[in-house]
Amino acid sequence: MRRDVFTDDHEAFRELVGDFVTKEVVPHFSSWEEAGQVPREVFARLGDLGALGTAIPEEYGGGGQADYRYNVVLQEEAARRLVNLGTLRTQLDIILPYFLEYANEEQRRRWLPGLGAGTLLTAIAMTEPDTGSDLAGMRTSAVRDGDTYVLNGAKTFITGGIHADLVIVVARTATDPANRRAGLTLLVVEDGMPGFSRGKKLEKLGQRAQDTAELHFSDVRVPVANRLGDEGAAFGYLGHNLPQERLTIAIGSVAQSSAALQATIDYVKQRKAFGTPVASFQNTKFELAAVSTEIEAGQAMVDRAILEHVRGDLSSADAARVKLFCTEMQSRVMDRCLQLFGGYGYILEYPIARMYADARVTRIYGGTSEVLKTIISKSLGL
Ligand SMILES: Cc1cc2nc3c(=O)[nH]c(=O)nc-3n(C[C@H](O)[C@H](O)[C@H](O)COP(=O)(O)OP(=O)(O)OC[C@H]3O[C@@H](n4cnc5c(N)ncnc54)[C@H](O)[C@@H]3O)c2cc1C
Repeated sequence: MRRDVFTDDHEAFRELVGDFVTKEVVPHFSSWEEAGQVPREVFARLGDLGALGTAIPEEYGGGGQADYRYNVVLQEEAARRLVNLGTLRTQLDIILPYFLEYANEEQRRRWLPGLGAGTLLTAIAMTEPDTGSDLAGMRTSAVRDGDTYVLNGAKTFITGGIHADLVIVVARTATDPANRRAGLTLLVVEDGMPGFSRGKKLEKLGQRAQDTAELHFSDVRVPVANRLGDEGAAFGYLGHNLPQERLTIAIGSVAQSSAALQATIDYVKQRKAFGTPVASFQNTKFELAAVSTEIEAGQAMVDRAILEHVRGDLSSADAARVKLFCTEMQSRVMDRCLQLFGGYGYILEYPIARMYADARVTRIYGGTSEVLKTIISKSLGL
């Protein structure tokens, strides 16, 4: 179905970044997956292209276009070419909004130019070894001492944690037994601060071009000047930004599903069994017809949500619905497509095997499918 989300400016941007991905990402992507990261220079080159700072105001070196659709285009153009940009999606869609919305003037001057240039890499650390879904249960603590906070605790599963120059850490600055959500604060920890250390890079099933790490904080003195927003207000900030995070994941799910469908169509046309192309079997046609229909349903949902988000009224329940549907759909699509590759579908040299592995986590991070169902059911008054 025809999409009505993008303007001519977005389409020009699509051409620009699509060309970049074809020339500068596709040829190197396998080696980046082996290395477990996208090289820093790639972020800087995307910064030079103006692809990272579209949402950053011009006075801080950005493009001054607070329009989420540029990020959508970037993600779609990578997915279309069967690659991704590692931690960039997290940096751009999930972390940058915290800096744009909650940084004060001095912090904006300090950090926004580097974020737009792709020279400052970031991570956001919410999850702890003992608590993930239950964010209000986090225990990493920050105790005020003069003009610093003394930070202690551990975080895990942190995307980009190994290479980040700045980590937004969600820490507990107060405890209120009557309100577990109160008392959480965002602190920006910088590379090299004494007491901040990174654990091992975690070996994952998929998403291999982005590092995932454990982080440790032992009496790290974080200046009060590195606090983002108000003390104790972090739970509200997280709640405000999670719809975009969830929509971003859903957009990736649909874009990668479309790419998997195209790769499968190409494969079944040239692969022969019993002397005839696999594409000629009725089962193949029916499977791919069903897959294509599911993807169209996901795309329609995502496009509607993008427009609502750009207007500023995507509700958290609707963002949860979109992520729930699209990520579950992605798992079904990857499974059905992989089946049509036969044994080759299980071999990592084939992108479908990698896409199948990459897909699995989308039902877990950014809110598990079960947690999303609790949010949706609350909106139903249950
Ligand atoms: C590759 C990867 C990258 C990640 N990147 C980041 C990152 O950059 N920053 C960050 O902070 N975190 C990150 N995470 C963490 C991720 O957000 C959490 O793993 C996720 O929120 C789930 O938390 P958990 O792992 O503690 O699972 P748990 O909360 O322990 O859940 C275990 C199971 O219990 C279920 N469950 C939990 N609560 C309920 C409930 N109320 N009702 C029904 N079922 C429930 C869950 O759905 C799940 O099936 C990442 C994780 C992965 C795997």
